[in-house]
Amino acid sequence: MTMARPTRYGRRGVTAAAALLLAPGSPARAEPIAVTFDDLPVAGPSGPIGNSRTLTQHLLAGLRRQHIPAIGFVNEVQLEGPERAQRIALLADWLDAGMTLGNHGYSHLSFTVTPTEAYIADAARGERVTRPLMAARGLIEHFYRHPYLETGTTVDARSRFEAWLAAHGYRVAPVTMENSDWRFAARYDEALARHDPAEAKRIAAAYLSFTGRAVAWYRAAALDLLGRRPALILLLHANRLNAASIDALARVLRHHQLRFVTLDAALTDPAYAIADTYTGPNGDQWLTRWALTLRRPLPWSTLPAVPDWIAAPRRSAPQRDQTAHRSG
Ligand SMILES: [Zn+2]
Repeated sequence: MTMARPTRYGRRGVTAAAALLLAPGSPARAEPIAVTFDDLPVAGPSGPIGNSRTLTQHLLAGLRRQHIPAIGFVNEVQLEGPERAQRIALLADWLDAGMTLGNHGYSHLSFTVTPTEAYIADAARGERVTRPLMAARGLIEHFYRHPYLETGTTVDARSRFEAWLAAHGYRVAPVTMENSDWRFAARYDEALARHDPAEAKRIAAAYLSFTGRAVAWYRAAALDLLGRRPALILLLHANRLNAASIDALARVLRHHQLRFVTLDAALTDPAYAIADTYTGPNGDQWLTRWALTLRRPLPWSTLPAVPDWIAAPRRSAPQRDQTAHRSG
């Protein structure tokens, strides 16, 4: 995969007449993409509240600068502790910046290994702060994002949880594009902890380069699968790497002819009406689920791989639970 794929619309200096000729591919035709952030208020080690506040401010300022109407999915377990009020204030900041919020389970449980009743109880506990916070602003919390994208190992587990979601006014928030940001973010946080800004910069550059390749793959895979270009939904995490990279990230997405819309708007694409009936242990994104339904392959052999130096944890890395930061 390469980023050198020509873009028809990115060149400057086209005349008005040429712009008209290009109209079928004008930016109005660009595919919609919804940008979603998981593990709010802050993905990864939370650290001092001041760090979380800075991360949130940088991320939200970038989203506003880039006109990205994002949604953040909250793990309310993060709000516990002596700084509860300040952490809740970070969620209020998201809403006050014009973003919206959703439920990501109270404690980020794996549905694959959690009994259904306990999983439902965790989802119910996950809305206690966020839902009233949104209601106070005239908003309704109506999206649920499964941690690790795990949707249930049996038809019974899946349908029982989905019945709970429906009864509580939730819609599942699918994912159709991801860029392994959590892997790069782990290395980035380690570099910052070592006070190594040069290495952090190198990691951020590798992250953006990888994102370009991943975006190209997901767009091509979706086109191949559906025979047209659907609205896409990108999974990111609320981490320092994204807070520092948001402008460059927006440029990468725009370069690939994507335009930012809300999650609600992306879901009006008919692709999201394709049945997802997968049951099993895997936390797959929705192109994989649609491929199962449609009995069509995805071009896995060309999926870009995260570079080894990013994927392999350093021996000196601060201890963190890698399994807790899997995609989703
Ligand atoms: Zn998550």
